[in-house]
Amino acid sequence: MSTLLIPVVLAGLYGIVMFQFSAWSLKRQLSRQSNPLIDKKLEKIMGKFANVLEVEKIRINIFETEPINGLAAPDGRIFITRGFYKKYQDGDITVEEISSVVAHELGHVALGHIRRRMIDFSGQNAVRAALGALLSRLIPGLGGFIAGIIGNLLMAKLSRRDEYEADEYASALMIKSGLGIEPQISMFKKLDKISNLQGSAPAWLMSHPPTQERINSIKKTHAKIYHR
Ligand SMILES: [Zn+2]
Repeated sequence: MSTLLIPVVLAGLYGIVMFQFSAWSLKRQLSRQSNPLIDKKLEKIMGKFANVLEVEKIRINIFETEPINGLAAPDGRIFITRGFYKKYQDGDITVEEISSVVAHELGHVALGHIRRRMIDFSGQNAVRAALGALLSRLIPGLGGFIAGIIGNLLMAKLSRRDEYEADEYASALMIKSGLGIEPQISMFKKLDKISNLQGSAPAWLMSHPPTQERINSIKKTHAKIYHR
C-alpha cells in the first residue's frame, strides 16, 4: 500500500509546487508587461459594476501582448491584452462587449476559481500518479499514457465547470448593471468570426467551451434571473 501511496502524495505536492511556481511567474510577467488601463467609457461601466458589487473601484490593466485575451491574475488583478483593446479602439468591439469579458474574469476571481485550479491541478497530478501506478501493473507500458489521458479529461471537465460559472456570474453582473446579456452573446459571436478570419481561435476562446454552448447557457441564466 505505502509503495503506492508515496508516489501519489509526492505527485500531489509536486502539483502544488508547480502551480505556485507558474502562478508566480505569470504574476511577474504580467507586472512587467502591463500598464493601468485608462479609458473614460470603460471606466464608466466599471463604475456601474463597482456599484453592483459594492466595491470602491474596479481597476483594469493592459497586458502588452497581441493575442486577444482577457485574464485574471492569481492575485485577483484583471487584464485585457493590448490586441484586444486595439479591436475595441478600432470600433470592432463595443465598450459593453469588452466589459462583458471583464465581468467574466471578475467571476473567476470572485468565485475563487484560481485557488480551486491549484487544488484541481494538484489533485489531478495525484490521480494521474495513482492511476499510472495501478494501470502500469495491469497494462505495462501503456498505463502511464492512459492515466495521462484520463487526467487531462478530468482537468478539462473541471475547467469547463469554472467557465460556465464565470459566464453565469458575468450575465448576472451585466443584467444588474443595466447592460443586459446581449453584449456577452455578441462578443462570443465576434470572437468566433475573428477566429474564422485568422484561421485560429483567439486565446480567450481556445481556453473556453464552444461558443454556441456558452450562448445557450447564458440564455438559460437570463431566463433563470427573469422568470423565477
Ligand atoms: Zn474564463
